[in-house]
Order: sequence, then C-alpha cells, then structure tokens
Amino acid sequence: LNPVYAGLGTTIFTTMSALAAETGAINLGQGFPETDGFPEVREAAARALTDSSNQYAPMKGQGALLEAVAGFYGRTQGLSLDPAKNVLITSGATEALAAAVFSLISPGDEVIVFEPHYDAYAPLIERAGGVVVRVRLNPPDWRFTEAQLTKAFSPRTRMVMVTTPNNPTTRLIPPEDWALLARFCVAHRACVVSDEVWEQVVFDGTTHHGVLNVPGLETLGVKIGSAGKLFALTGWKVGFVCAHERLINQMAKAHQFLTFATPPMLQSAVAFGLGLPDGRFAEEVAALQRSRDRLRAGLEAGGFRTLPSEGTYFLNIDLPGSGVALDGQAFALRGVKEAGVATIPLDAFCAPGGEGLPVVRLCFAKSDATLDRGIERLSAAR
Ligand code: GLN
Repeated sequence: LNPVYAGLGTTIFTTMSALAAETGAINLGQGFPETDGFPEVREAAARALTDSSNQYAPMKGQGALLEAVAGFYGRTQGLSLDPAKNVLITSGATEALAAAVFSLISPGDEVIVFEPHYDAYAPLIERAGGVVVRVRLNPPDWRFTEAQLTKAFSPRTRMVMVTTPNNPTTRLIPPEDWALLARFCVAHRACVVSDEVWEQVVFDGTTHHGVLNVPGLETLGVKIGSAGKLFALTGWKVGFVCAHERLINQMAKAHQFLTFATPPMLQSAVAFGLGLPDGRFAEEVAALQRSRDRLRAGLEAGGFRTLPSEGTYFLNIDLPGSGVALDGQAFALRGVKEAGVATIPLDAFCAPGGEGLPVVRLCFAKSDATLDRGIERLSAAR
C-alpha cells in the first residue's frame, strides 16, 4: 500500500455531501450547481451520443475541440494557441493536474503551493515523489509577499501551483502579483501549473489574468481549464491543458497512461459550447453574482461576517469576525448535524496538523429558495 494514501481520509467534499444526504441537510458544501447548466450543450451531447462514433477519441483530444479551445481562449483572453501543438484534452481538470505533476517533476523536486490550496494538489505532488513547500496566505486579501517567495524558493524548486480565481479563497491573482511570481519562476526555471477552472466565474466586472498572459511565463506556464465549470456541468469531467508544445508533449505522455482519451460525445458538445456567443456566458455569471449577493446579504443580516467573493461558486464566513468561537471543522460538523446545513471548513485546504483556518466555505450555485433556507437555518443556530 502506498504510504501517501495511508495517511489520507476521504475528501471533505465527499464526506460532507454524504453527511448532508444522511441527515437531510441543505448541501452548501461541495461546489456544484443545484440545477444542470447550459441545456443547449447537453442537447449537443445527446445528439453526438446517438449520431457520432462512441469509440476511442484521439489521445490528445478531438480536432474540433482542440480548435474550439484555441479559438475560445483567443477570443476571450487574447491567447494565440496552435490547436495541434498547444492544447491537450483530459478527463477533467483533476486529470490535467495529475498529468502535469506526474510528468513535469522528479522525485525530490520541490513544488510550491499557496495554503489554503485545493485538496488534490498535495497528494498528487507527494505521490510523484515531490516535496510540498507551503506558503501561507491569510484573509482578507490572501496575497503572497516577496519575502514569502524568497523564503519558499530554493535550488530544488521545479514547480509552482496556483489557482486563479482561487478555490477556496475566491481571490484572483492580480497582474502585479503575477509579475512578482514570474520573476522567481524565471530565475529558477520553475514551471507554473495554473488551475484556472473558474476563469469564467468572475464577478463585479473584474478581469481574470491567466498564466499564459504573464510576460516571462509563456514557456513555463501550464493553463488548466474545465468544461464542468464553464457550462455548470461538473459531472462531465472534460478538462483542457494549454501550454508550450514541449510541455504539452510531456504531459500527453502521462495522460496516455492515465485515461488515454476522453468520451467523444462530451468533447463534441464542449466544442459546440465553446462557440456560443460571449453574452451566453455573461448571463450565467450575472445569475451567479445575484446568488452570491443574496447569500451574502442574508448571512450578514443573520449576524455573520463574510469575506469578499471575487469569483467561483463560493462565499466564505469569517468565524472569529462573526463572533463564533468554534474552529472551521467544529462549525461545519455542528452545521450539518444540528443546523441542517453542510459547509466546507477551510482547514480541509491546509496542511494536516497545521495552523488551520477559522473560515467556512459556502456554495451559492443554488436556487433562491435553497439559499434562503440555508441562511435561515444558519442564522437560527448561531
Ligand atoms: N471542486 C469542487 C469543490 O471545490 C469539488 C470537487 C470534488 O468533489 N472532487 O467543491
């Protein structure tokens, strides 16, 4: 048995969703929309399922989807990607993360992550024999400093993993922070795996800046995207990786022995979806922003202090700021068992046995009625 897994439990998302199902709690934990997203994209998948081949798709992705990804990022983020060289399709962004970590580092290499970080990162790095180096970020701004980077980088640093917009902090990496990080990565020849699955879910007119737009990181950056988040269809597990050809070819070697290829009908539907007019995505984001505002206003009226939510499906509650004396784990457990609302403690995104974080994350990609019931129950249990 591999020791990396021996010390691990089941993911917090699965644990909290199971507890919610068991207790009948409202599930504001695991990040998924209450109702399925883009119907026109689902219809395209249904058509492809019956009208097109269901045999293995090309290993690196279907031509139409490679072109659609390159076109979409050209149009929305000004990137100039060659579909045949700079794009790889994976079975979800999690597979993309695995392919990147497994193929771009060697045992003993150091990988810098920013804590709190998405829960998949550390086990992937450790399973690849890498050493996790954590840089701690704190609310409300969750930004890293030059002094922290100076301390974290070493001659063994080969990779940095970032998330923007961030899950769970919701913050976007601003251009000046990208420039600072790029300076260190270029000096150390460290690649930057940038998990940008939430790139379209950004509020208040803020602009997402991705790794491939950062001067100096054009050949070191690995940009990861997800159809599940773009179309609010999280069960689809269709991911995209964009990078310099040399990195794509290396990652494809890992991908070919992880999942090999991704279901063709989903690839066809995602290719169709990426061609939808920009206004279609804006409609979805506007609805999510209204849900964020509804949850925030309700919680604040109920006596909770929330942290800024710049993007993603999430809003965080600052527990000490709300006068709650419990840590995140205890609040989340009490919430699901006594108040009947599942949430995710940010401790789950921190090193086990470390400092933890007295913050809980709530998913607002839900109907108004569900949000209102969640607010009511949490406020009553305070
Ligand atoms: N990305 C989702 C979240 O943050 C969870 C995905 C999963 O359950 N593995 O809630």
